[in-house]
Amino acid sequence: MRYYSTSGQAPIATLEKAVVKGLAEDKGLYMPDHLNPLPQEFYDNIENMTFHEIACAVAGAFFGEDIPQEDINRIVCDTLAFDVPAVKVTDDIYSLELFHGPTLAFKDVGARFMARLLQYFLKKNNNGDEVNVLVATSGDTGSAVANGFLGVDGIHVYVLYPKGKVSPIQECQFTTLGQNITAIEVDGVFDDCQALVKNAFMDEELNAAMKLTSANSINVARFLPQSFYYFYAYAQLKKLGKADNMVVCVPSGNFGNICSALFGKKMGLPIKRFIAANNANDIFFKYLQTGEYEPKASVQTIANAMDVGAPSNFARIYDLYGKSHEAICADISGATYSDEQIAEAMKACFKETGYVCDPHGACGYQALKEGLKDGETGVFLETAHPAKFKSVVDGILESDIEIPAKLQAFMQGTKQSVEMANDFEAFKQFLMK
Ligand SMILES: *Cc1c(COP(=O)(O)O)cnc(C)c1O
Repeated sequence: MRYYSTSGQAPIATLEKAVVKGLAEDKGLYMPDHLNPLPQEFYDNIENMTFHEIACAVAGAFFGEDIPQEDINRIVCDTLAFDVPAVKVTDDIYSLELFHGPTLAFKDVGARFMARLLQYFLKKNNNGDEVNVLVATSGDTGSAVANGFLGVDGIHVYVLYPKGKVSPIQECQFTTLGQNITAIEVDGVFDDCQALVKNAFMDEELNAAMKLTSANSINVARFLPQSFYYFYAYAQLKKLGKADNMVVCVPSGNFGNICSALFGKKMGLPIKRFIAANNANDIFFKYLQTGEYEPKASVQTIANAMDVGAPSNFARIYDLYGKSHEAICADISGATYSDEQIAEAMKACFKETGYVCDPHGACGYQALKEGLKDGETGVFLETAHPAKFKSVVDGILESDIEIPAKLQAFMQGTKQSVEMANDFEAFKQFLMK
């Protein structure tokens, strides 16, 4: 498979280059130059397959031209040590719980997969180079990537996060690990962290001195595997006789997650339509309305993993739909919610159904509740365990939700982080020393 850049100015890359480099030379995002549709027999039989079997088939379609299927299967096996059940919330709304991984959020799948794929290429070439992974996080990416890469030989991870803007529970999941993980606390917002990382990739001197790659959802190895669980969600609904007219609603920030689902649809996955649910950071919502994509500074919300003012994967969606606003609008509608509306949605969902949504999932639930039409079945992604946002959730629901043992273990660790001004030169000097 060949990968081209959404900006169209960089050379075509191999899978290995796309994974190792992350971002193309022209700052564009890599796109596979074709998608292999899965055969009809796969869809006919999908409800009888395990999550693992489905994921191996889908991974084979993406990576099978470059990696032997048995190696893919091994990587998948090591990635998916947990389930993503579709849980019934109302008669026609299901929650796809993506929070059963090590850091209790959906990014675990992609992060682990990427760590294994990168390790595969490093071992294959065996040239002894250390690779440095730079990742900007508004909360959940950092913990997923740090845990996905923890202890992986030959790879060092730098996690950049906005000081004081991630919850203490999120913070401890990437600041307490040590080993090959360094946490950097930046005096700024998420977009500043993302800009520092992007500038690092563009800096010639830095790239000559050390091998850098990104693990944000701009990396194809991270975002493509996220499509696995959409296929599995379809399989689960098909088993229940609910898969016709399936509507998938994705709480979105950087748009990697929904983008992988759109790839799934292009590979034949019968999803009728999509809803992208935003918090107050409504850049995509506005784009759907106006046809103008106008990134702006992010604002802080209680669904902070979606506090993104310049969603990177917009470039991929735009490209996937032939740069056509009309084609995008035909498949995807939008929703946007203020913090007050998110809180109301969480309360109403809990009161009416007994289901506890985290603030991100609540945007998805609410958008389905408002937007689902007769005869449709909705699946929203519950992207994080509510306990990751315990103080917010308890404050709204007047509850005292239990913290899973996995989370408690992180909270017992000691925070180790490096403070950094929002200044590229300072960041560069730190990396080079
Ligand atoms: C990352 C994240 C999102 C947004 O996903 P994108 O792929 O960036 O759109 C939503 N919810 C949670 C809990 C997340 O961690």
